[in-house]
Parts: sequence; structure tokens; C-alpha cells
Amino acid sequence: MHCPFCRHPDSRVVDSRTSDDGSSIRRRRQCPQCNRRFTTVETASLSVVKRSGATEPFSREKIANGVRKACQGRPVSEDDLALLAQKVEETLRSAGSAEIDAYEIGLAILGPLRELDEVAYLRFASVYQAFESLEDFEAAITVLRAEREERDGQGDETGSDAASTE
Ligand SMILES: [Zn+2]
Repeated sequence: MHCPFCRHPDSRVVDSRTSDDGSSIRRRRQCPQCNRRFTTVETASLSVVKRSGATEPFSREKIANGVRKACQGRPVSEDDLALLAQKVEETLRSAGSAEIDAYEIGLAILGPLRELDEVAYLRFASVYQAFESLEDFEAAITVLRAEREERDGQGDETGSDAASTE
């Protein structure tokens, strides 16, 4: 967390207090550059464990930001993104854990994003699941197509080999 006075990129926690109801943590921080102090309040109900091992509070805004790029040029509105972020949060909270791995968030995004827009889903999945070749795209599209046919009850399209690579 950077210093709000001098924008120094780091700060030191000098005191940390949990609110009476236990739902938030108030931290007193000090900037090592200008030595000024400031306070941050962090809700502790749902934390994300990042790959680095650091934790941060879950943020719907970050979910929407993470998905927005994949939706460029697609008929997806800001309301759609907000709703998707809400669904993701509900999914993660229903798992009952106070801490979630960053990787699980990506997984929780894939489902509702696929319902929202299949092209955006493929873009997001290709980054998240580190697609390396055309074959990876083909496999994902094959799964999408098979599931769509199942949903629509139409099995007459070609290339409907439903073999999953997962
Ligand atoms: Zn400072």
C-alpha cells in the first residue's frame, strides 16, 4: 500500500486492530520515506491468497477489471460485468472458506463468463489456462459446442466430438 502523502510505494504497519464485530481490520501505517502515518480499513470477510503468498481482501471491482479486457468489442455491458462479479463472489462465499486461492477465482469466473459471452470466455480461458496452441483452442471450442448442443437439444452439427482434455 503506497503512502497517500508522498506516494512512496511501501508502508509499514505499526498497529493493527480488529473491529468489535470482527468484520474488519483497522491498520495504522507509517511511511518509511516521509514518516507520516495513515490508517487503512480492510474488510476481512473474504481474502484472496495470491500466488506470492500475500493476501488481499476480495474485490468485485478487481473481478470486473480482470474480465473487462476479455470482453472488449463484445456485447457485454458494465452491468453484466457487475452481475458476473456478484455471481463469482456468491460462488466463492458459498464454498464457506474465509480464504480463497487466486486460482479458484479464475475457475469461478469461467462458468458465468461462458454463460455471458462465449468469445469473451475463450479469450479469458486462453490466458487463465495458458493455452499454448491452436489445439488448446479447438479442444475448448469442442467442449463449448458439445455443451451448447446438449443444452439446445440439437445434435446435428459437425465436429461434435465431446472428448474433453480435462
Ligand atoms: Zn510518505
